[in-house]
Amino acid sequence: MTDIKAVARELVVANRILSREDVVDAYGHVSVRHPDNPNRFLIATSIAPELVEETDIVELDLDCAPIKDDGRPLYHERFIHGAIYQARPDVHAVVHAHSEDVLPFAISTAPLRPVIHSGSFMGTKVPVWDIADKFGTGTNMLVTNIDQGRDLAKALGSDNVALMRGHGFAAAARSLIEAVRISVYTPRNARALTKAVMLGGEIKPLHDGEIAARNAGYKPYSLETRRAWRYWAHKAGCAHLVDDHAVDHQHKPWGT
Ligand SMILES: [Zn+2]
Repeated sequence: MTDIKAVARELVVANRILSREDVVDAYGHVSVRHPDNPNRFLIATSIAPELVEETDIVELDLDCAPIKDDGRPLYHERFIHGAIYQARPDVHAVVHAHSEDVLPFAISTAPLRPVIHSGSFMGTKVPVWDIADKFGTGTNMLVTNIDQGRDLAKALGSDNVALMRGHGFAAAARSLIEAVRISVYTPRNARALTKAVMLGGEIKPLHDGEIAARNAGYKPYSLETRRAWRYWAHKAGCAHLVDDHAVDHQHKPWGT
C-alpha cells in the first residue's frame, strides 16, 4: 500500500510549482491517479493552486464523483481529468491550465510544434480541440460534464498535450513530475515559437528523431529530473514538503 499522504503532499507541491511558474493562476488544476486504485484520482477541492494544502486533496472516481462527499465544492472542470484517466491507462497525472502563451495556437491554424529542446516532451503533434464541434456554439467553453471530457480525451488521443480552442490546454503524462514539466515548458516553447514567427523567416522545429531521442532518454524520477523538482519547489516556497526518500520509494516501481 502506498502512503497516500505522501502522494497528496507531492500534489500540493505540484500545485504550488504550477502557480509559481505562472502556468496557472486562480484557475487551472493538476491531478494524479491513485497509485493503488487506477479507478480513482487525487485532486484539490475548488481552490486556487497557490493556496492548496494537503487537507484540500480529495479522491474522485473516474466519473469525477467524490469517494467521500463532505460537501466541499469541486472544480467544475474536473471532468478533463476523469475522462483522460478513463481513456488512457498509461496516464498517471493530468494538468489543465489557461496559459496565455499557448492561446495564439489555440485560436489560429498555426500549429504548436516543439521548437526548443525542453519543448520536446509535448511530442511531435499537439492537437487542437474545439468544444463547439460537438457541443455547439452555446456552451460556456468549460468542460463541465463527462461527455465533454471524453470528447477532449478523444481529441488528445495518444498525444501528451491538447490545446483547447479559446481556452487553454490539457497535458497528460505517466508521472506527476512529467505532467508538471510538460506544463511548464509548453508555454515557454509557445513563447519562443511566437517570437520566431514575428521575426519572420523560416522556422526550424525539432526533428522527429530529436524528439524521440529526448523522450527515450527521459526518466521521470532520475537525479536530473529531481533536480528540477527541488528547484521549482524551493522557488515556490515549499521545499520543506519535498520528501525525496518517500517519493522515490513510492514511484520507483512504475516511475523509473
Ligand atoms: Zn479551463
